[in-house]
Amino acid sequence: MENLKKPVKANQSEEITQFNELMDSSYELAKKLLPFLARRRIPLIPENYHLFYDYFLANNPELNRQLNDALQYESLFTPTVSRRLYQIFYDVDNEKVKALTQMGEKIGNISQSLELNLGQSLDSTGRFQQVLSDSAIQMESGDLAVDDMRDMVDSLLVETKSAMDSQTALADLIEASNRVIANLTAELKDQTRLASIDELTQLYNRRYMSQSFQDFAASYKPGDNLSLAIFDLDHFKYINDTYGHAIGDKVLMICAKIIKTIGGEEHVACRYGGEEFVLLCRGIEAEAAGELAESIRRRIEETQITIRGTNVPVTLSAGVSGYIAGEPEVDFISRADKALYEAKNNGRNRVIVFGVDSGSGI
Ligand code: GH3
Ligand code: MG
Ligand code: MG
Repeated sequence: MENLKKPVKANQSEEITQFNELMDSSYELAKKLLPFLARRRIPLIPENYHLFYDYFLANNPELNRQLNDALQYESLFTPTVSRRLYQIFYDVDNEKVKALTQMGEKIGNISQSLELNLGQSLDSTGRFQQVLSDSAIQMESGDLAVDDMRDMVDSLLVETKSAMDSQTALADLIEASNRVIANLTAELKDQTRLASIDELTQLYNRRYMSQSFQDFAASYKPGDNLSLAIFDLDHFKYINDTYGHAIGDKVLMICAKIIKTIGGEEHVACRYGGEEFVLLCRGIEAEAAGELAESIRRRIEETQITIRGTNVPVTLSAGVSGYIAGEPEVDFISRADKALYEAKNNGRNRVIVFGVDSGSGI
């Protein structure tokens, strides 16, 4: 009997094997993931599924660390908590992406309608030129009757008017399009700014920090300096537990403002994660960045933070590293992180510069 099965090509069979493996592993993972979320009363919304799917895959230690923190400290995994974590790790803000896509579509429509009108205008200009050159040939032949002459003038008038109308329509359309494009450009600028800003503190977000680092690395020349200070509020969980989450948020805003003010325009102040901030210091070496971080630490220690009549003592620790030519962002941050860890271990409320201040050889 004839074999009706289609032969499977080598790369097709490989794809089917991969597909089957993916089916098995994703179902296995879902079987563990769903009871895990249900037991902890974590709503099964797409953001949580995505976050905890990656948590189970355990490929991103920072994601696991922050989710472990959240599991331990957040009394409820509300959509606000999910959204904050989701934005940190996937940097997707649907509203902003939607707005940008809509703007792209509007610009596409304008350019289509301009193209259409330009086409029509060229058609009528072409027709006009044809009529003109036909008329010139007839006139040169010198044997035109008066009636022919009248017809010719009439048709010249009609074509002139039509060419003028379409030119005016095109000019109007170009003017209107210019206005729309100017508005869209302003809106795009706003949206691009919003996509780089952390909502709570109004500092730049982690995505923007990475972008700034990439820009620096791409244009790096020997002698250029870049340093990084990573700040982490001390015992912030205690602040939240003692004074409440809302006051915790206010503390974050106040610290962010101090970091931004002392960091100044030259350096890039970002909210790196929950109660962690990064100051990307352009044009200075690690030691100078350490001094800047020390001014920030001191200012925060000295600032009397009083919220609704309650005095909230706040300190932070910082780790600083200097950029080594050609290294990836993760290494640059990891040295600052090690120094921060050292600062925490040495009693908190201090700044350690990697390779300079540490007595323990980091
Ligand atoms: P350490 O001195 O070792 O840094 O201790 P810590 O308590 O500051 O650090 P830990 O990492 O244990 O806790 C950080 C807390 O920050 C846990 C989390 O709930 C809280 N947090 C993270 N993001 C926010 C936020 O946006 N607002 C508020 N109020 N709290 C947040
Ligand atoms: Mg922390
Ligand atoms: Mg902390």
